[in-house]
Amino acid sequence: MSLAVVRSRAPAPGRAPEVVVEVHLANGLPSFSIVGLPDLEVRESRERVRAALQNCGFDFPVRRITVNLAPADLPKETGRFDLPIALGILAASGQIPAESLERREFAGELSLTGALRPMRGAFAMVCGAARQFSEGQPAPEVYLPLASAAEAALVPGIDVFGAADLPSLCAHLAGSVDGRLTPVRPSALPDAAAGPPPPDLADVIGHPGARRALEVAAAGGHHLLMVGPPGAGKSMLAARLPALLPPMTDDEALISAAILSASSLGFAPQAWRRRPFRAPHHSSSSVALVGGRNPPQPGEITLAHLGVLFLDELPEFDRKVLETLREPLEAGRITISRAAQQADFPASCQLVAAMNPCPCGWRGDPNGRCRCTPEIAARYLRKLSGPLLDRIDIQIELPALTPSELSARSAVRGEASAGVARRVAIAREQQLRRQGKTNRELDGREADAVCQPDAAGETLLREAGERFGWSARAYYRVLKVTRTIADLAGAEIPGAAHVAEAVQYRRALSVA
Ligand SMILES: [Zn+2]
Repeated sequence: MSLAVVRSRAPAPGRAPEVVVEVHLANGLPSFSIVGLPDLEVRESRERVRAALQNCGFDFPVRRITVNLAPADLPKETGRFDLPIALGILAASGQIPAESLERREFAGELSLTGALRPMRGAFAMVCGAARQFSEGQPAPEVYLPLASAAEAALVPGIDVFGAADLPSLCAHLAGSVDGRLTPVRPSALPDAAAGPPPPDLADVIGHPGARRALEVAAAGGHHLLMVGPPGAGKSMLAARLPALLPPMTDDEALISAAILSASSLGFAPQAWRRRPFRAPHHSSSSVALVGGRNPPQPGEITLAHLGVLFLDELPEFDRKVLETLREPLEAGRITISRAAQQADFPASCQLVAAMNPCPCGWRGDPNGRCRCTPEIAARYLRKLSGPLLDRIDIQIELPALTPSELSARSAVRGEASAGVARRVAIAREQQLRRQGKTNRELDGREADAVCQPDAAGETLLREAGERFGWSARAYYRVLKVTRTIADLAGAEIPGAAHVAEAVQYRRALSVA
């Protein structure tokens, strides 16, 4: 047998596509060529594989060796293909049984001594295998460097084996009795309660209105904007949103973990089932925010998938950068095209934005602390694009705490997150039962069908629309928030009181 086929996977967030490594040995002048990788990668991989085989006492065939990695447009971090290439050479030259490679997937970078180095994205790779083989086919066994196997073994339904080095893996593949590896036992999946508790709403002093707005945002999945002076508690409130959202389903937890696993952040088991909270700095580029580079890497909006993306000091972000958020926020996905490669990343997150009402931050302060002219304040607000603001369903003002509120801090300790989360969960269940998605995700026709308020609510909504000159888009935003407020109240049909609260949430910027 002078041809061997080994299966592996490319590192790509959320999907990890299959890669086939073919190794062919032919007679002729000895050579070793790899096709399907960038030049530099080929050179490095060739040297590592050759040294590892020789140092582990295997024969390095003195023949024409051709290795083909398909598909050819692979991402850059390709050290992980060292192991499949080495195994392919061993199988093609009859040093391990070729059938031992069937229904198995391999990945790992080799050191010159033949040891297997830990790799990034092990969890993502096994998720890819699990999702591809979930439709009735027998799942493959996955072989990884020992140090990466524990993380990957968290994925249910796939047997993951860890090997310290090439010889121990080959002994297993050759069926050696005392060299048999056993699947890594997953260290039982931690539940969300493991690890330090997330920040709790009970720590937030005062601000009953903002707490209520946060609850409505959580219940309907609505994007939220908070406008208020420095130190009012905007960041504190934002950081408490993820724990108010319903617990992740198994599938959601897998997707989220796979995204983090393949990113430079890595996946920490204590983050299992925790909704991500990402707060990129306002100097972030559009690549950092929505993704890019070659090969395409996910941005913050993908890292926040199924969780919360917090943009503090919104007007300080580059306007062009904010514009790039519009489409993925609407679609819940982002497609990045670079040269030959195209990548499609999930990006369904809840946006929370915060800003000062003016450059100095004190506009509207009763003590007259603001030194900005009306013109400067207006210019500051104009830095935000109308279409982005239009997509933020709930906009509230967060006034500075008064001295009496501050001094009474122990007396006005607010409700803890757990109680709020229970109401949010009930409201979300109603939405899923009724329409299979959150209220934010309703399109216009669906909103017409399920959000319609009663006659009094309808009149109030129409009058507000005329008074504030809403666009059709803004009208639907209010309609959907109205539905969420009614869901929190357990009301079948939204009434005037629900409309009135939703109307309030469109007014922060006009007041500022
Ligand atoms: Zn000011």
